[in-house]
Amino acid sequence: MSSPPASPTLTVDLGALGRNYDELKRRTGGTSAVAPVVKANAYGLGMHAIARTLYREKGARLFFTATCREALALLVDGQRFFDDAPPRVYVLNGFDGDRALQEKVGYLPILSDWQDVGDWVAGGGGPCGISVDIGMNRLGMSFQDAGGLPQDTRLNPDDVQLIMMHLSHSGDPTAPENELQAEKFFTSGMMLARLYPKAQFSLSNSGGILLGLAPEQQIVRAGYALYGGAPNGLPGQGLDQVTTFEASVLQVRDIGSGESVGYNGTWRAERPTRLAVLGAGYADGIQRALSNRGAVWLGGGLCPIRGAVSMDLVTVDITDAPSPVTRGDKAEIWGAQIDLDLVARQAGTIGYDLLTGVGSRVERIYRLAPQAPRPPAGSGGQ
Ligand SMILES: *Cc1c(COP(=O)(O)O)cnc(C)c1O
Repeated sequence: MSSPPASPTLTVDLGALGRNYDELKRRTGGTSAVAPVVKANAYGLGMHAIARTLYREKGARLFFTATCREALALLVDGQRFFDDAPPRVYVLNGFDGDRALQEKVGYLPILSDWQDVGDWVAGGGGPCGISVDIGMNRLGMSFQDAGGLPQDTRLNPDDVQLIMMHLSHSGDPTAPENELQAEKFFTSGMMLARLYPKAQFSLSNSGGILLGLAPEQQIVRAGYALYGGAPNGLPGQGLDQVTTFEASVLQVRDIGSGESVGYNGTWRAERPTRLAVLGAGYADGIQRALSNRGAVWLGGGLCPIRGAVSMDLVTVDITDAPSPVTRGDKAEIWGAQIDLDLVARQAGTIGYDLLTGVGSRVERIYRLAPQAPRPPAGSGGQ
C-alpha cells in the first residue's frame, strides 16, 4: 500500500535545540550568557519558533540578528510570546537609518566604523554596540578608532553596551589565529573596558565556544552549533542533530540499460535500474551541486542521486535499496541517518549554506520539547 506523497518538510526538534543550548552554556564554564543568533530566519529553521523556545524554555533574553528588519520582525511579532520583558536584540550589520522605527522597537545596532558612530550620535545616540576587528578584515573598526570614539564622534561612553569581536578561524581548531585573536580580545578588551564602563564583551561564535576560548567574555553568540551543526567539522561534540530534511517519493520507475536520467542526460544507466523520483529540488534546498553526487536515505539504505537535480525534483537510484520503496515513502536528505555536514562537503559547501538554503515553500514542522519547569527570566541571557 502506498500513501499519497507529501510536500517536502524540515522537521525541527526543539528539544534537541534546548539541549544544545544547555551544552553550549556548559562549554563556556556556565559563566557567559549564550545569545542565540537568529539571523536569516534562524538559519532557515524559523526565527519565531526558535526564539520563542529559547526565550521561554531557556530564559534567553539576548539575541542577535543581521539586519534591522530581522530585529523588527523578532521584536514586533515576538510580542505574543514575551511573557515579561522583551529580549535585547543586537543587529550585527549596523543601523539602517530608520530612527523612528528603531526608537519604537528598541533594538541596538552594532556600529562598525567611526562614520557609523558619527551618524548614530547625530541622530540622537543611545544604547548601541561597537565591533572591533581583530583579524577578519570584514566589518569592525580598529582598536585605535574604538578608543577614539568619545573624542572623534562625541559618543557617550555609557551608550556602548557591547563590544564585539569576531574570530576569523574558529572553523579550524588547529589554526594559530584562534589563540592570537583571543589574546587580542583580552588585551584590547582590558583597555576598552576602562573607557566604556557599561560594555559587555563578546568574542565567540559556535566554533569559538567549542574551542573554549576567552572564558572571561560575558556573551557568546551561538548559531550553527545551536542548530545541530559542527562548525569545525568535528563530529561527536555533545551536540544533538536538530533538523531533518525529507522529501516524498512521487514515483517509482524502471529504466533499461543505456537510458539516461534528467536534463541533458548527465547520468546513463549501465544496468536495468529502478529509480525513485522525489518531490524536492534545488528550489527546496537540495543543492544543484549534488547532481550525480551524494545520496539520500531511502528504503533502509543510501540511494545515490542520479542525473541533474532539477528545480522541484530529484531522481535517486533504489536498485540496491535494502527494502522496497513505494510512492509516498519519505527520503531523508539529511538528518539522523545522513549528517548535515557530510551533505555539505559532498555539495562543496558548508552546512550553514544548506540550512539557510532550505526553500521557503518547505514546510517547517516543530517537534516540541518535553515540558520542563521554566527557568527564571534572564538566567540564560542578559
Ligand atoms: C553569524 C554570526 C555569528 C554566529 O556564528 P555561528 O558560527 O553560526 O555560531 C556570530 N557572530 C557574528 C558576527 C556572525 O556574523
